[in-house]
Amino acid sequence: MKMHTRVGIVGAGPAGLVLSHLLHLEGIESIVLESHTREYVESRVRAGVLEQGTVDLLNAAGVGDRMRREGLGHGGIELRFNRRGHRIDFRDLTGGRTITVYGQQELVKDLIQARLDAGGQVLFEASDASIHGLETTTPQIRFCKDGEQNEIDCDFIGGCDGFHGVCRPSVPEGVLKVYERNYPFGWLGILASAAPSSDELIYANHERGFALQSMRSPSITRLYLQCPPDEDIAQWPDERIWEELQLRLAGDEGFHLNEGPIFQKGVTGMRSYVVEPMQYRRMFLAGDAAHIVPPTGAKGMNLAIADVRILSKALAAYYAAGDDTKLNQYSATCLRRVWRAQHFSWWMTSMLHHFEADGEFDYRRQLAELDYVTSSRAAATSLAENYVGFPIE
Ligand SMILES: Cc1cc2nc3c(=O)[nH]c(=O)nc-3n(C[C@H](O)[C@H](O)[C@H](O)COP(=O)(O)OP(=O)(O)OC[C@H]3O[C@@H](n4cnc5c(N)ncnc54)[C@H](O)[C@@H]3O)c2cc1C
Repeated sequence: MKMHTRVGIVGAGPAGLVLSHLLHLEGIESIVLESHTREYVESRVRAGVLEQGTVDLLNAAGVGDRMRREGLGHGGIELRFNRRGHRIDFRDLTGGRTITVYGQQELVKDLIQARLDAGGQVLFEASDASIHGLETTTPQIRFCKDGEQNEIDCDFIGGCDGFHGVCRPSVPEGVLKVYERNYPFGWLGILASAAPSSDELIYANHERGFALQSMRSPSITRLYLQCPPDEDIAQWPDERIWEELQLRLAGDEGFHLNEGPIFQKGVTGMRSYVVEPMQYRRMFLAGDAAHIVPPTGAKGMNLAIADVRILSKALAAYYAAGDDTKLNQYSATCLRRVWRAQHFSWWMTSMLHHFEADGEFDYRRQLAELDYVTSSRAAATSLAENYVGFPIE
């Protein structure tokens, strides 16, 4: 089948779905292609921390009702080291800005529903997508659905297909420059049916390695342990996970880490990655398709949503008056924010993780930095304003 749309979007993750929704609000038609089933993308557990600017954007776009009801507002985080907790008070340090904990899969559910309610096209189980005609003014996306070959002619393509997608590799060789760092560890993450042990996230630097206490709801805890990047999850029966979490998150007298049945676990590697520019001709890369951050700064989903907000405004200016100034500035505008988040995510990762190659000196240096960040208002403010995020342009 042959189709035409203004913006063909590959990927129904946060980037692709928010882009399609924002374009709809601007009166611009789009089609979203997703290789997986709706059930799969709606149950994929990933990020969960929304910056203030992301929450404001989703509310203003009319997709924040359930997030407002079910999301957990947090006014700070705790940094734990030498078995003592130190709170970073976001509200106080940033003039009232906060974060909201709301699972990525819940946001994806809300966005898919909003697109379908508005008559939008989200084509699930669209396999073998490929990009063509990037040198022309009507690039095409070809894909297979229900055994049939399809082709969409587009004015523009939104490459929102994550790190392993097809859009970025479709750019001719030599155009994109890659900046990359791989870390010598990963995160073993679990979801457990247990009430969170604290109202806010706890980031722990322990001599055995990093640990994080997070949550998804008042009855579900999300916990992470630093581990080797290629760790075999089979080596981690539930008892071992709880034992290690108890050791690394041990804290002030009175702190008790709640345990409960683990219903999901997995290991994720950690990397920092950026391609420049985030555009080739009429194809624009957004979210994980263009950049990856280690999750310590909780920036991945927020960056994806900021990218497509900038892209939707640029496309709106183009369709309203033929003005392509903002489209031409898209990459540079996004990359400024991306590199800020890259630095913050790298800094949080470096301060909180145990690096095998480091010695006692480096551990002492980390502790000195944590002591500074939790005792100097200037240093704490820097962490807080980065964590709650900067307003989206
Ligand atoms: C395993 C994992 C765990 C994570 N955990 C955290 C965390 O704890 N905290 C945190 O802050 N961040 C986390 N992140 C990062 C965060 O989830 C991402 O930054 C965020 O999902 C980016 O959104 P996106 O829309 O750009 O990409 P994605 O969410 O990856 O969406 C891309 C979509 O494109 C689809 N797609 C890919 N290829 C094709 C194709 N050829 N054709 C059609 N569709 C295609 C994919 O199926 C997917 O639905 C995690 C990421 C991963 C991968």
